[in-house]
Amino acid sequence: MDVSPTTSIVTDMEIINGLMDMQAAAQRLKREGKTIGFVPTMGYLHDAHASLMRLARPRCDVLVVSIFVNPAQFGPAEDLDTYPRDFERDQEICREEQVDILFYPAADEMYTDSVQTIVDDPSLSDVIEGEKRPGHFRGVATVVAKLFNLVLPDVAVFGEKDAQQLRVIRNMVNSLHFPVEIVPGPIVREPDGLAMSSRNAYLDAEQRSQAVCLFQSLEKAEVLFKSGERDAAALADAVRARVAEADRGQLDYVAIVDEQTFLPVENITVPVRILLVVRFGNTRLLDNRLLTEAS
Ligand code: AMP
Repeated sequence: MDVSPTTSIVTDMEIINGLMDMQAAAQRLKREGKTIGFVPTMGYLHDAHASLMRLARPRCDVLVVSIFVNPAQFGPAEDLDTYPRDFERDQEICREEQVDILFYPAADEMYTDSVQTIVDDPSLSDVIEGEKRPGHFRGVATVVAKLFNLVLPDVAVFGEKDAQQLRVIRNMVNSLHFPVEIVPGPIVREPDGLAMSSRNAYLDAEQRSQAVCLFQSLEKAEVLFKSGERDAAALADAVRARVAEADRGQLDYVAIVDEQTFLPVENITVPVRILLVVRFGNTRLLDNRLLTEAS
């Protein structure tokens, strides 16, 4: 039997449900001079979430993970009711990653009828992913602001897989002066290159094998870029051509944007991010890649 310390569960994780209980615990920790690290999630945790916890762990004294399937970021026709959940397994993963506090709030306490204030970044809310999911980024920014005010983190980790979300959060932190350091977590992939996602569980076997087209189309675009191609339309065409080979998938969009502003770029002279979404049935899969002169 393997009894090495790395495989044993050593932390005594606390689960907090109440909003005011979470805020009181965070305030107590602050008074004790502890730093707080934070990884917000919607649960159904996988290795990518664990990688964010591993990035946060050495940057703080107390690591808080939240699990909250946020109704405000789902559209009326989206998968709020069917979003996968497994709280028992999520707890195990958090314990393995030495999480100190698992914050698991209830939706009816997070959103009461009297709460009307929202956080909106008009430069990002209605473009690219925001155009496809009206209200999504308002829901994300609002819930992250609420979570920051409850968890009081010094550092928070967000995955680059959701690149536009990461930009929304960075802009919010800058505009509203949240005293939080935002740390980006690199995209974590399955062995064939598919970006890990809780929604990958929706794919049937054929869709799953074709889903590698997202990664491979980005690889193709990067090869072109490295060979000197600077015309964004040519890179987008390469992405479209690879995705078209996957007959179960349908390209929702491919966008090539300035990494700082997220405005579309035609001739690439600055770091850009290629963003794409491919639909397999009702499942939307996201991926992206940063292209810089150094990449
Ligand atoms: P979610 O539970 O899908 O809301 O994701 C919680 C956090 O994990 C977000 O910051 C995501 O960007 C991040 N995340 C999800 N999948 C990945 C991935 N494959 N690689 C890196 N980060 C990810």
